[in-house]
Amino acid sequence: MNKKVLTGEAITISIGNLKIGTDNPPIFIAGPCSVESREQILETALRLKEVGIHILRGGVFKPRTSPYDFQGLEIEGLKYLREAGDAAGLPIITELMDEKNMNIVLEYADIIQIGSRNMYNYSLLKALGNIQKPILLKRGMSATIKEWVMAAEYIAAYGNKNIILCERGIRTFENYTRNTLDLAAVPIMKKETGLPVIVDPSHGTGIRELINPMSKAALACGADGLMIEVHPNPEKALSDGHQSLTIEQYQKLFEEIH
Ligand code: PEP
Ligand code: MN
Repeated sequence: MNKKVLTGEAITISIGNLKIGTDNPPIFIAGPCSVESREQILETALRLKEVGIHILRGGVFKPRTSPYDFQGLEIEGLKYLREAGDAAGLPIITELMDEKNMNIVLEYADIIQIGSRNMYNYSLLKALGNIQKPILLKRGMSATIKEWVMAAEYIAAYGNKNIILCERGIRTFENYTRNTLDLAAVPIMKKETGLPVIVDPSHGTGIRELINPMSKAALACGADGLMIEVHPNPEKALSDGHQSLTIEQYQKLFEEIH
């Protein structure tokens, strides 16, 4: 890793008044895996704002393993997410899956999430380098540290250093959990890139009961924030309900770590 734009010097990312990284306190991103309806996202946003979160998440373009599963509400959902964020006074983050929707996502979202499956999509990463909007770059599910660093380099080298990294677990031989949450990556990526690193224990474990202990472990090893899936009724969720906390469970966790 010789030629690098991300030298390891600490970079702070600003989202409005919110600051992420360096010595700032951890930030809390929460919300459903998918935006499912206007009512669902509005209720979730208002209740999570009460709990004290900083950023609302919600997927509208969903990268599902099966083409027969719910694919997301797309642009209609993006508008609901924006409306919910505005109603609650929260910035919003959502996943961009392909370049053709970049302008509309740029128009509505405060942070653009690049999912695990697109970490290797170099043409998309180059396109993100040409904008200044903050990017949340999730780790590829089979990405080594070096490959993840280089994916961030793609965005930075093309001109955008507003990058937040997100450890979301990797594939290993272990299959009790959905992924193996690699917490050693947190201090390593902070040192290698200087970028803030947050942790997603929802996808990182795939098991609701593990989110509480893994959130605490993530903060203990220096994570700059947590992104957690929360749904008002996980049993009825259209995606990832098994790894989603109820709002009450999230509130309990939030209080325990504050
Ligand atoms: C998500 O955050 O909803 C998601 C699809 O995550 P990942 O890209 O990490 O699988
Ligand atoms: Mn999900």
